Amino acid sequence: MPTIKHCPGCPYREFGPAIGPRGDPTSPIVLVGEAPGAKEVKKKKPFVGPAGDVLWKAVAEAGLHEADLFITNSVACRPHPARPRVGAIRACQGRLAKDLGASPRLVVVALGTTALRAVTGDSRLGVTEARRGPPFLSRWGLVVPTLHPARVLRRPSERPLLVEDLRSARDIAVHRS
Ligand code: SF4
Repeated sequence: MPTIKHCPGCPYREFGPAIGPRGDPTSPIVLVGEAPGAKEVKKKKPFVGPAGDVLWKAVAEAGLHEADLFITNSVACRPHPARPRVGAIRACQGRLAKDLGASPRLVVVALGTTALRAVTGDSRLGVTEARRGPPFLSRWGLVVPTLHPARVLRRPSERPLLVEDLRSARDIAVHRS
């Protein structure tokens, strides 16, 4: 994990702690979220709060297993006040690149617009539009854009979209491995 004092230029360097990834680091499927919340900081791992509950149920419904996935975030420290600032995403890019590149990946599931932008480096992309198109290639693997589980928590009617995208990620991994 990055040491906070070694993150010059990041607006969160005073806050910490940096929350590391979870799951299988050699997994061909990586899920990238936005940032840790209060529960994640307390438990020291990503996606353990209410949005995590939504995610893990959708993962199971898509025929995937949590233990077979690798999960990380666009920024490793909890944002203040709420969403990660562009400067923090930029400052945390090296850490994200290390997570994504630690092993050959087939699929990178970008959970929400922040993750999509962090993974691609393209600040014009939005997840609602991007998920209407096919998965596209990035330096880390095929990117499958999907909705952030926190959004699905607020709009449960969108849950099938998250499940559908996770199923696509599974199908790509099955057919390419
Ligand atoms: S968010 Fe990333 S770059 Fe910023 S202090 Fe935390 S680990 Fe460092």
